[in-house]
Amino acid sequence: MEAWRRQLDEPVAAFPVSKAGPAHIATLKTFDPPIAALEGRRFRGAERRGKRLLFPTDDGELVVLVHLMTAGRLRYVPTGGTTPKKPAFRLEFAGGSQLILTENAKKKRAGVWLLTPEAVDAELAHLGPEALGLGPERLGEIVHGESRRLHALLRDQRLIAGIGRAWANEILHSAKLSPYALSADLDDEEVTRLSVAMDSELERGLELRERGASDAETYRVHRRLGEPCHVCGTPLAQVDFEEHTIHYCPTCQTGGRVLKDRRLSRLLR
Ligand SMILES: [Zn+2]
Repeated sequence: MEAWRRQLDEPVAAFPVSKAGPAHIATLKTFDPPIAALEGRRFRGAERRGKRLLFPTDDGELVVLVHLMTAGRLRYVPTGGTTPKKPAFRLEFAGGSQLILTENAKKKRAGVWLLTPEAVDAELAHLGPEALGLGPERLGEIVHGESRRLHALLRDQRLIAGIGRAWANEILHSAKLSPYALSADLDDEEVTRLSVAMDSELERGLELRERGASDAETYRVHRRLGEPCHVCGTPLAQVDFEEHTIHYCPTCQTGGRVLKDRRLSRLLR
């Protein structure tokens, strides 16, 4: 998300919006103020809070908030560039460049909100501190604050903002911690390892994204079932936990143990 923000920061502020919309009915989540209220206004740039991108207008009156979820993609298309026929959301700028949101999925989950700055503050009030640069002390308070499976805790945006399931996989692998480990059981050394892994993995992801790397080039654990672990060579495993599929290395992370499917076991109980 930070890589997207950096990419969009300058171009979105270059020209005022000339035409707002169309938007897919499932994508645009607000109708008051109407999206046409953006027309004639210029953005100040791109900001980010956790996994949300924010585009405030330079008059300080409106903010476009975008949450891409899993399949959403946001692109700045220069004047004359090719654009999809049916984008989920489109903004056209004076001069002809466009900001385009597409979502290649049956179920539209990405969202665009047009809000006042006050409404954005209310919307984001529940977000935890940013993951990148959190540090072992703050992280220690968070992990010891409640006992949760590490994978679920890392993804909980109210506790730590900015980590999705893919990076939870990468971070836990790098920290050599089990996705099922209970957060309250972590000792100081493990908290430090987790903190270092969060920073190094998120920095690595940011750098690769800025270079335009694909998912396949970026993730070393996520969605690599059966491929050799890049550290020890053990085939990577996966397990279904709640509504997510977790990828992990049984040698590096779980002392050789294979994790049980928490979805299936609940059905069979
Ligand atoms: Zn391994």
